[in-house]
Amino acid sequence: MNSNKQNTALNFAIIGGGMAGILSAIKLKEAGFTNFTLFEKAESLGGTWRENAYPGIACDVPSHLYCYSFEQNPDWSYACSPGKEILSYFQNVAKKYGVLEHVKFGTEVSKLQFDNEQWQLETRTGDKIEEKESFDFVISASGVLHHPSYPDIAGLDTFKGQQVHSARWDDTIDLKGKRVGIIGTGSSAIQIVGALAGKVGHLVQFQRTAQWIMPRENPAYTDAEKQHFRDNPQAMAAIRQEQVEMAEGGFSAAVVGDNPDALKEIGRLTLENLEGNVKDPVLREKLRPSYTAACKRLIISDNYYKAIQHRDTELVTTSIEAVEPAGVRTTDGELHELDVLILATGFKVDQFMRPMEVVGRNGVTLEQAWSERPSAYLSVSVPQFPNLALLNGPNGPVGNFSLIDVADIQLDYFMKMVEWVREGDCSAFSAKSQAAESNEAERVEATKKTVWVSGCDSWYLDDRGIPAVWPWSMARFRSVMEKPNKADFELVV
Ligand code: NAP
Repeated sequence: MNSNKQNTALNFAIIGGGMAGILSAIKLKEAGFTNFTLFEKAESLGGTWRENAYPGIACDVPSHLYCYSFEQNPDWSYACSPGKEILSYFQNVAKKYGVLEHVKFGTEVSKLQFDNEQWQLETRTGDKIEEKESFDFVISASGVLHHPSYPDIAGLDTFKGQQVHSARWDDTIDLKGKRVGIIGTGSSAIQIVGALAGKVGHLVQFQRTAQWIMPRENPAYTDAEKQHFRDNPQAMAAIRQEQVEMAEGGFSAAVVGDNPDALKEIGRLTLENLEGNVKDPVLREKLRPSYTAACKRLIISDNYYKAIQHRDTELVTTSIEAVEPAGVRTTDGELHELDVLILATGFKVDQFMRPMEVVGRNGVTLEQAWSERPSAYLSVSVPQFPNLALLNGPNGPVGNFSLIDVADIQLDYFMKMVEWVREGDCSAFSAKSQAAESNEAERVEATKKTVWVSGCDSWYLDDRGIPAVWPWSMARFRSVMEKPNKADFELVV
C-alpha cells in the first residue's frame, strides 16, 4: 500500500481520435502522464466531424461553447460554425498540444482483454492483426453517434442511382441538376435540406415524423469581433459562460422536468416559428408535429422552413412502400423518380465500444454484461471491467448542449480514480454491480418526469421505450461527478 508510482510507470490506451480522444490525450499530458497511445482507425483525427461531411453540416451548439474550455477560438466564422471549421479546430488543437506523436493511425482496436491486472489490446491494421500491447488503463472515446443506421425499407439496394448515408458522405457525388431524395427529418436531414434547396434539380424530402424547429440567428463574426476576441480572451469565456447558463438553466432543466416554464417557452417559440414562417396552410399542417416540442432532440435551424418552401423542393408525408431501381415508391402508388437518394436515417446508438470484443474480469464479456442493453455506473464505469473509462457512454447527458463538457467532466472523474492507483491505494477499480444497479434503478425512475416520454419516438429511447439518457440536471451531473465515491467501487489492492 501507498507505494506511489511515477506517472511514467502507468500507461494508457485511448480508443478513438475524435473530440473526446483528443481531449483525453491533452489531459493525460497535462497531468504528467506521457506513456499513452491513441488508437485511431482512420487516417486522420476528428471523429464525428471527419465522418459527417454532408452538405450543410454544422454544429447547432454555439461555437464558443462547442470547443475546449482551455482552447477558445477567436476565429470562429459564425455563432454556430460549419462542420469543416470544427474539424480543422480539433485537428489544429491536436497538433498544438502534441497529440499527434501519440497516435497510431489506421489502427483499429479489435479486442481488449483484462488479464494479469492489465488490459491486453489487440489491434488490426487493414486485415493484419498486430502484436498485443498491454495497458494499465483504457479510455474509450469511440463516440455515441458513430454507427450509421440504415432503414429497413424493401428494395433499398435495388436503387440504380447513387445512394449515400448522411454520415458516410461521398464528395464525388455530383448533385447539380439532379433529382435528389432524402429520407429523414432529424438534425442531419434538416441541415442537408437547408443546404441543397435550390441547388439541385429537384429535392424531395420523405418525412415520417414532423419536427418542431427552434429558430435561431446565426450571424457571421466580423473581423473586428474576431480581433476583439483575440485581444480579450475573457470575452469568449464570458460568451461561453452565458451559453452554459442558458443551456443548463433553460433547455436542459426544461427537458428533465425541472423548468416547466422553459419547456412552455420552447413550445411557444417553435409554434410561432411554424405559424409565422410557413405560408401554405397545407404544407404547414404537414410540418406540424403532434407531440410536445423537445420530446425528440430539438432541431435548431434558421433556413429549413425557407428551404422546404423553395419551388424546387417537395415534402412527401405519405409512407414509403419501397425503394425501386428508379426511385422511391410511396404507399399511394406514386413513384418519386430520383438520381440520388440520401439516407439521413440516424445512428445505431446502443453500440458504444462495439464491435470491439471486450473481455473483463473472470472472462465476462461486454456482450454478456450488456446482453439486455448497454449500461454503466454513472455512464463511465462497467462492473467487472476495471480501469476502463467510457466517455459519453451509456445513459449519460445528451441533448442540445456540448458533449465536450460532458466528456471533460467524465475524464476528470476517471483521473481522480487513476490517482488512487498512482498513490498505491489500489491497482484496479471498477464500479460495484450493486452500486451500478441501484444507480440505474434510480435513473430509470427519474426518466418518468422527462419530456422524452411525453409521447414521441426518438433515438433517446431504448428498446423498452425508456430514455437512455441522464434524466437530471447538468448541475446534478457536475456535482455527482465532482468526486468518485470509493464505497461504490471494487478496489483490487
Ligand atoms: P435522427 O435524429 O435519428 O433522425 C433519423 C431520421 O430518419 C428521422 O427523421 C427518422 O424518422 C428517419 N427514419 C429512420 N428510418 C426511417 C424509415 N425507415 N423510413 C422513414 N424515415 C426513417 O438522425 P440524425 O438526423 O442523423 O441525427 C442524430 C443526432 O445527431 C441528432 O439528434 C443530434 O444529436 C446529432 N446531430 C447534431 C447536429 C448538430 O448540429 N449538433 C447535427 C446533426 C446531427 P422518425 O423521426 O419517424 O423516426
